[in-house]
Amino acid sequence: MPTPTIAYLSMEIALDSALPTYSGGLGVLAGDTVRSAADLGLPMAGVTLLHRRGYFRQRIDAEGHQSEEPAEWNVADHLTALEARVSVEIEGRPVAVRAWEYRVRGFGGAEVPIFLLDTDLPENGPEDRGLTHHLYGGDDRYRLCQEAILGIGGVRMLRALGHEDVGRFHLNEGHAALAVVALLEECLGRRTPRAAAVEAAVEELRSHVVFTTHTPVPAGHDKFSHELAEHVLGARRLELLASLDGGPLLNMTELALRASHFVNGVAMRHGEVSRSMFPEYPIRSITNGVHVATWTSPSIRVLLDRHVRDWRRDSLSLRYAVGIPLREIGWAHRRSKQALLDRVNRECGAGFDPEAFTLGFARRATAYKRPTLLLRDPERLSAIAREQGPIQVVFAGKAHPRDHEGKEMIRWIHEARAALGAGVSLAYLPDYDMALGRLLCAGCDAWLNTPMPGLEASGTSGMKAALNGVPSLSVLDGWWIEGCVEGVTGWAIGDDDYRERLAPSALDALHADALYAKLESAVLPRFYREPDRYLEMRRSAIALNASFFNTQRMVLQYLYDAYRPVEAARS
Ligand SMILES: *Cc1c(COP(=O)(O)O)cnc(C)c1O
Repeated sequence: MPTPTIAYLSMEIALDSALPTYSGGLGVLAGDTVRSAADLGLPMAGVTLLHRRGYFRQRIDAEGHQSEEPAEWNVADHLTALEARVSVEIEGRPVAVRAWEYRVRGFGGAEVPIFLLDTDLPENGPEDRGLTHHLYGGDDRYRLCQEAILGIGGVRMLRALGHEDVGRFHLNEGHAALAVVALLEECLGRRTPRAAAVEAAVEELRSHVVFTTHTPVPAGHDKFSHELAEHVLGARRLELLASLDGGPLLNMTELALRASHFVNGVAMRHGEVSRSMFPEYPIRSITNGVHVATWTSPSIRVLLDRHVRDWRRDSLSLRYAVGIPLREIGWAHRRSKQALLDRVNRECGAGFDPEAFTLGFARRATAYKRPTLLLRDPERLSAIAREQGPIQVVFAGKAHPRDHEGKEMIRWIHEARAALGAGVSLAYLPDYDMALGRLLCAGCDAWLNTPMPGLEASGTSGMKAALNGVPSLSVLDGWWIEGCVEGVTGWAIGDDDYRERLAPSALDALHADALYAKLESAVLPRFYREPDRYLEMRRSAIALNASFFNTQRMVLQYLYDAYRPVEAARS
């Protein structure tokens, strides 16, 4: 049976560093998903918003204060304008929507079209023209309007572009859940139908909807008051959703859960956490991955081209990296490291030394990721460096403009430098984006991750590091529970203590202690005194982890579990 067309709806898709249409992990995962779908020649079409003003450009002053600037970009330089127009009723007004097209070209030449929805049209009023300008900007009303454009406008735009044959609507996070409104309206017309007819339509629709939840953090699950929802969407639509939305708030996660036949979390542990959050639903797990050709450094690509000939087409073949001579891995990594240090030294005047152990930490600056954990005890860290050898740390990451705690953490990292001894140096690179991510994940000697257990759904930057022969040093959460082979692909910080239910401050103390102990007793001794064994770890990270934690394996799993016709999947 042929695979039906898969519509992939996501609030953000990281298509290219030059297109600031993403903020972080969710967008990068979406981009890697469509890149792998194109490699595999799957009949997929992506839908997102244009985000004409981008997320934001981050500036950091000498004291570590973040400021934000719009990330303007010239849309017509990168995308093709399409003629089609659709209309979405918002606050009782028709809002006109157009689409721009970007084509993601796969390894074998197949393409996945991405439609970026845009309301900046002369027929719309000034306020409506701005609805697709800012990713994660504005208030609840702005967000709900955006979700109406993404979900309802997205389905209508696909139809207007001739995609009548969509077999699956994949809601990448709850932001796209209002697609269900458009699908119900297609079934039922725009009159207010009887409840039994709605039930039947939902039942029919469910076999076509797939939902991936991406975060256990409550703020990541959009909820809107019924007053606001009625104001933006109208009473008739709320009535339509009544059978799917039981609670006192319009909850996009609940809506997507109820409307989908297949729901998954993004790592084994995240599936478990999601089932405990939503016990009424059979939530499965499909562990995230990264797109291998996108996230390898130039020197690692050359190395793999030489030794694992088929790696760009077949990610599984990265298993054969086990046969790469260690010294060649060493040479390739040295190049990746030099490229990173050149940037750090140029931009921050950090004077980083290519012979010194370099630890990387780059991710959204927000409390649960605990970016300051490494610096909790500057004296101890300095003592470890004095004994074992110098430590260089590169940080990067943006705080959401309204995340004051996240901004304070960036400032605190800058301040902490003063308390460090000569053996520890820090640099904070501004404006973390895909290009910087590629440089960082490839160029460090180890990749640090310290989330509060249970809150990191998957994490993907450590997978990018593995792909480039960089072992992880990480708390056991998200993908690392599956990827960590102690002393072989990296190191765990602490035990798998998610079920211990310790107070956050107790966990912080425990994990900081475990982190220092691991650096002192395992990571630094191996780096400075057993360089060959360190190279073996680099090789194992590629062979064991890059061969599995990639989006080709992930997309194939979606195909088997979620995209195949329901009848075929049952048999
Ligand atoms: C990979 C990536 C992320 C996601 O990293 P996590 O480990 O999931 O936090 C975020 N932002 C950028 C720019 C990335 O490249």
